[in-house]
Amino acid sequence: MPAYKRILLKLSGEALMGDDAYGINRATIVRMVREVQEVTKLGCEVAVVIGGGNIFRGVAGGSVGMDRATADYMGMLATVMNSLALADTMRQEGMTARVMSAIAIDQVVEPYVRPKALQYLEEGKVVVFAAGTGNPFFTTDTAAALRGAEIGAEVVLKATKVDGVYTADPKKDPTATRYSKISFDEAISRNLQVLDATAFALCRDQKLPIKVFSIFKEGALKRVVMGEDEGTLVHV
Ligand code: UDP
Repeated sequence: MPAYKRILLKLSGEALMGDDAYGINRATIVRMVREVQEVTKLGCEVAVVIGGGNIFRGVAGGSVGMDRATADYMGMLATVMNSLALADTMRQEGMTARVMSAIAIDQVVEPYVRPKALQYLEEGKVVVFAAGTGNPFFTTDTAAALRGAEIGAEVVLKATKVDGVYTADPKKDPTATRYSKISFDEAISRNLQVLDATAFALCRDQKLPIKVFSIFKEGALKRVVMGEDEGTLVHV
């Protein structure tokens, strides 16, 4: 039995790059989709928020003199591209996925409408939330916290390159150990970066736990959903 009935999975755009320097790596996206498929087979309802960092980030545009809000809209459009690629790969793998966008772009994807998203999830479809929160100056981490709270997900799963939150940077400090669990308050007092500050505050206010784990570790997503000791759980 899965530990969660409904999850919000946050994938970074970079996770789609694989070993490439930019864009979407085919083998990587297929592998990731298969990991998601495994958990849907367990009967877990899955919503996904995907970033856009493999294509464009607002800060990058801002740093070369672009108007920041315009650059952020470009970043949000990048997440739409990733969402389309993800849903298309899901379809090819025999899953049913729906993309819902926070920005009106009706000829391409349907708009985000909460009751409809809930209906899709109840029908066992994977819902991919595109265009972040729809607002500049936010991130897809915040979109994950927001949508997670809106759909009543039991947990936000933050997929990263590292398999959890560590006492120190494991690349620099060989004695660093992984927290199996940590409270929101302790994560703050130890100054641990779990999600960006806005996203973290939203999860904390809504008492929505966060699980940080590595999407590059085979089967990790399934172990997380089964409630095994994988990654780090940030709890109330
Ligand atoms: N973005 C935004 N508002 C949002 C979500 C995203 O403006 O609610 C923009 C922002 O410019 C960001 C880009 O979209 O840099 C891509 O998202 P993010 O950096 O969160 O992607 P990730 O790092 O997860 O790949």
